[in-house]
Amino acid sequence: MKNLSELIKNQAAWVMEACDRLGKISQSNEYIDRQYLTKEHRAANRQVSEWMHTNNMHTWEDGVGNVWGRLESNNPKAKSLIMGSHLDTVVNGGRYDGMLGVIAPIALVEIVNSLELELPFHLDIVGFCDEEGTRFGSTLLGSRALTGKWQDDWADFTDADGISLRQAMLDFGLDFEQVNSCQLNPEDILAFVETHIEQGPVLENNDLPVGVVTAIAGAKRLIIKLEGMAGHAGTVPMKRRQDTLVGASEMILAAEKYALQANVLATVGRITNAPNAINVISGYTEFSLDIRSDNDHARDKCLELIISKFNKIAEKRSLTISTQLTHDAPAVLCTQHLIDKLAQACYLANIVPEDGAFELLSGAGHDAMAMADICETGMLFVRCEKGISHNPKEAIIVEDVEATLKVLLKFITHHE
Ligand SMILES: [Zn+2]
Repeated sequence: MKNLSELIKNQAAWVMEACDRLGKISQSNEYIDRQYLTKEHRAANRQVSEWMHTNNMHTWEDGVGNVWGRLESNNPKAKSLIMGSHLDTVVNGGRYDGMLGVIAPIALVEIVNSLELELPFHLDIVGFCDEEGTRFGSTLLGSRALTGKWQDDWADFTDADGISLRQAMLDFGLDFEQVNSCQLNPEDILAFVETHIEQGPVLENNDLPVGVVTAIAGAKRLIIKLEGMAGHAGTVPMKRRQDTLVGASEMILAAEKYALQANVLATVGRITNAPNAINVISGYTEFSLDIRSDNDHARDKCLELIISKFNKIAEKRSLTISTQLTHDAPAVLCTQHLIDKLAQACYLANIVPEDGAFELLSGAGHDAMAMADICETGMLFVRCEKGISHNPKEAIIVEDVEATLKVLLKFITHHE
């Protein structure tokens, strides 16, 4: 099989080059920044579409701005296996988050063509237009358009320049009112499989190139506001203070303790403090809390304990507390038979010994979460250096892309 391994090696090298080339399409000269409905979005779609076209795929752009390619099956009534990820980036992002999941399947199509394989399904590749939500603040716009979850009030979302989503779509040549036309019929779809860099260190720590995702963590986000009494740092006795910053500190430590006990992820990532002066006791503190797990029940139970502890701390310190839920997304489980099939593909591709593929949880959200509303969904994670993402230092190695292509090839060709 020297030819096949050569072919995969060449295609893996091409994937690395293609990620570099896409990474140059940016709104900034200094870093990668490619947001929804910009001319760079258009340029990235054009580039991807050209690569798909070169590989004998029929290509189109849908009503929300996702780019598509199809490798047609000989059976016109076949369903489609959709592979893909997103082409937008965060500000100062990396070259692989999202892009790898679009480009690797294009390389897979080239391998399928070279081997003259006939697939019993259409192989569709999608490059989603807006996953990160960088421009309009709402994530998964591209994939949610396919699932009928597009909502009328999103028309008025505005970007930093005050341009509404409706207007930006018009400027791009799209019609907000027509977005639901790109809704997919679940009956036409076999499954959706997303390949994505891990964005965490688990694969690296286990010395593995790829792993199979079992679930995407659900997340709740809250804003906690504390009101106390500002006062002079030199005159108010320690025991008489209503210090919101000290209260917040105790709460943040409590959140960490309960999360560790419940094996969920809790993060306080933002804090605002007032008056925030060197010689004044803090009278107002506000902080965020992000709590995640693949088990909604465990997460909610832990959150309940945390909030109850927060209330006790506030009471003890004579602080007024208010909590506001700003985001609530349930965990999404990947489809078991796709987990099994991807795991088997890892074994057949000699990535893991017989005792099964490495399974892991996704702590970050992905387009697969939206797609799970309408079809069976699977995810393959690829090792990235030190788990770094959303950062120009994001890095993968060509050998891991080879492993990815081997697994995807086994996944689409092995049928028991
Ligand atoms: Zn991503």
